Amino acid sequence: MKILLDYPTDLFEKPILASMILEKKVLLNILRAYVDGRRGEMLIEVPNEVADDVVKSFKNRGVKVHTGSLIELDSELCVDCGACVSVCPTTAIHYEEDLSVAINQSKCIQCAICVDSCPRFAIILKQGGGISFSSL
Ligand code: SF4
Ligand code: SF4
Repeated sequence: MKILLDYPTDLFEKPILASMILEKKVLLNILRAYVDGRRGEMLIEVPNEVADDVVKSFKNRGVKVHTGSLIELDSELCVDCGACVSVCPTTAIHYEEDLSVAINQSKCIQCAICVDSCPRFAIILKQGGGISFSSL
């Protein structure tokens, strides 16, 4: 399961991720991370069977936690032009057999590249919002 972590600035210097891994002895995958002077955000993936425990553990340490869908495609606005398909680094956005464009949530790392590419503003990042590479 993917978990989006939103770190308040007062937690930046604390080894929260390391302490959680050591305490829970859980293997996790960091899919994306971003920190600047105002915010810290990390998208991780953990085995489903320990996800609830991991979420609780981060919350107890003061980290805001988001789970669920990461991204949404507004099919009313989308014209299936494919601009987002060509830039997605994980092939999460793809063409279906009927040539409509769809998003595979399990492959998305919420990098926001597709959001910037869409001329119709049809792609919306959910929850934490992601960091657009173009703004780095
Ligand atoms: S946010 Fe990134 S990984 Fe997710 S669908 Fe868009 S381009 Fe692909
Ligand atoms: S770039 Fe926008 S309009 Fe084009 S296929 Fe992707 S979501 Fe649809």
